[in-house]
Amino acid sequence: MKKILFYDSKPYDIEFFDKANKNFGFNIKYFKDKLDEESVVLANGYDFICLFVNDTLNKEILKKIKEYNINLIALRCAGYNNVDLKAAYDLKIHIVRVPAYSPHAVAEHTIGLILTLNRKIHKAYNRVRELNFNINGLLGFDIFGKTVGVIGTGQIGKVVIQILNGFGAKIIAYDTYPDKNFQEKLGFEYFSLDRLFQESDIITLHCPLLPETQYIINKDSISKMKDGVMIINTSRGKLIDTKALIDGLKKGKIGSAGLDVYEEESDYFFEDYSSQILTDDILARLLTFPNVIITSHQAFFTKEALINISETTLQNIKDYIDGKPLKNEVCYRCGQSSPNCDKFIKGRCF
Ligand code: NAD
Repeated sequence: MKKILFYDSKPYDIEFFDKANKNFGFNIKYFKDKLDEESVVLANGYDFICLFVNDTLNKEILKKIKEYNINLIALRCAGYNNVDLKAAYDLKIHIVRVPAYSPHAVAEHTIGLILTLNRKIHKAYNRVRELNFNINGLLGFDIFGKTVGVIGTGQIGKVVIQILNGFGAKIIAYDTYPDKNFQEKLGFEYFSLDRLFQESDIITLHCPLLPETQYIINKDSISKMKDGVMIINTSRGKLIDTKALIDGLKKGKIGSAGLDVYEEESDYFFEDYSSQILTDDILARLLTFPNVIITSHQAFFTKEALINISETTLQNIKDYIDGKPLKNEVCYRCGQSSPNCDKFIKGRCF
């Protein structure tokens, strides 16, 4: 029976993976800590390891993993910015992921952040519980007719566009690979990034974190935006230069921000620090703004997504064992994980 070590596992991982594993029969060991230079030694003796968004997979750690004769690492998430893909490729370690477990989950959370920030539901909730039925300060705007800039029109961006179409918003988008068919079907426009910054009332990020997208929201791009713009990030923390965001919020240039991710989230997110002192001064400052909502990387967190994540992750491992094509492999050379990639050899990256 093949042995899999799970890093950074939470009670919900155990519940959903144990259920899915009834159809696979792997020997799974759940470990609470994240993968790092110290915890990597625990992988010795396992056939595979399974990781989440804040586990570290740098060159040194990958070398150790290779020494343990582990040749496939299963990410139970879509993003892979925490992986040194070149090092994995050089060491001939396959990286598989779950590319689309539920774009609806993330898209719906995105809309939840927009609506909550706009109509100040987070403030109204607290007020009414204290019998304060005053509505001063809770003024919002109609989303109908507003311009929403969507950066990244992949799986999640597309669902966001579909939902916002229902609101009667004007959608403009930017993507390095525009999807013309989808554009025609949905009737929105692709603009340059600069034009999107200039014309959007709400900007929502749905592109991956890559060297070219790191800090796509920065001092310069913020200066091009409309006064009072709402910024939503449910993608990856490092897409936003948080110091520039805070500066924009302090000056009133940015009207509100909804963040499900934060550039230094790996120190805090997914854990309970409620009885400790927050030492991250930037996060502490963000938390003081009444017009900022932070959620703890929970956009993916629906039952449907967890079922999909657990089944796809275990199927990815089984496909490797069975010598089948790895349709969810992250290919270092083309950046995709697609069976259509011409660099794939018999459905695998190498
Ligand atoms: P996807 O791969 O389907 O779509 C990404 C889109 O971004 C593609 O259309 C791609 O062409 C585009 N893109 C690539 N480089 C770009 C650039 N420089 N500028 C603009 N667009 C660019 O991915 P997805 O499933 O839609 O997920 C998007 C992101 O959401 C992921 O990368 C991940 O970081 C994040 N995510 C977050 C959560 C969460 O719980 N918060 C869950 C899943 C995914």
